[in-house]
Amino acid sequence: MAKDKVVRELEDLPGIGETTAEKLRAAGIDSLDKVATTAPFELAETAGISPEKAKEAIRVAQESVTLNFSTGEEIFNRRKEIGRITTASKDLDELIGGGVETNGITETYGRFASGKTQIGFQLSVDVQLPRNKGGLDGSVLFIDTESTFRPERIEEIAKKAGLDPQKALSNIFVIRATTTDEQTLALERADKLIQEKNVKLIVVDSLTALFRSEYVGRGALGERQQKLNMHLHRLQRLADKYDLAVYVTNQVMDNPAILFGDPTTPIGGNILAHAATTMLYLRKSKEEKRIVRLVDSPSMPEGECVIKITPQGISE
Ligand code: ATP
Ligand code: MG
Repeated sequence: MAKDKVVRELEDLPGIGETTAEKLRAAGIDSLDKVATTAPFELAETAGISPEKAKEAIRVAQESVTLNFSTGEEIFNRRKEIGRITTASKDLDELIGGGVETNGITETYGRFASGKTQIGFQLSVDVQLPRNKGGLDGSVLFIDTESTFRPERIEEIAKKAGLDPQKALSNIFVIRATTTDEQTLALERADKLIQEKNVKLIVVDSLTALFRSEYVGRGALGERQQKLNMHLHRLQRLADKYDLAVYVTNQVMDNPAILFGDPTTPIGGNILAHAATTMLYLRKSKEEKRIVRLVDSPSMPEGECVIKITPQGISE
């Protein structure tokens, strides 16, 4: 009887055949655990099945996985393994608890020229440093949606960091995405690159720009949020699976509903706020100075610090 069927792999789930299972694996949903924790709309979209079928598959997956409890001590020990990438500013590193961490998503948002892209460049260099110098000995997957990747900047920053500029450039794998489909696909196809090149940082600059231009008008808002949400889930899954750091940038929009304080909010609103582990708000100050505000973090208090953007990258 169907009820007694042992569920061991994706193909054992109702409505999931070989082809569908392959699609799911390609998207990183490669175990029953993962199906069990995937949102129905995401599973439906990824597998190309109806939401009803997706719900049923998830239900069966949830029944079949045994919950593995972790003790607080085990989680504590695992947390100690988490990698950190220096931002090249001691103050900023301290603000976020020792650098940009693996297993999570770090988001910066702010107006144009506030430094979001420059921080992405800095991290792309610093992740290549050895662990005792604030890096992870890793390479970078850089998804560039705004054509703002600048090799010259990487060269300058690498020199300052004591790395061979050519080598530093050869360790950054840049994908230029011009549509949200390309942006999404870049992640779906990322597993091989991540493993072969020891990618320890994924940069998505900008996370939201293409979504914003493709989905316009009120009617499209729901769909935009859903797609964006899925994209973030994928990023989080890659971060967990490969113990890598994810850095995303986000524009702000003027929010006339806020009368007092700073009338800007990040694009994507709440969904992003929940998905991003660490959220930083960047503001221009005098000349090369930028104010960084830690808006949300799982373990650090809110706070601010000042960084500088120099020709050689970020500094105190
Ligand atoms: P946008 O929303 O437009 O993408 P952003 O927040 O990504 O903006 P960045 O590109 O990170 O902005 O920052 C741009 C700023 O960085 C410039 O205005 C300049 O102040 C500084 N900058 C860029 N290149 C250099 C350089 N070579 N030397 C010094 N400062 C630089
Ligand atoms: Mg930018």
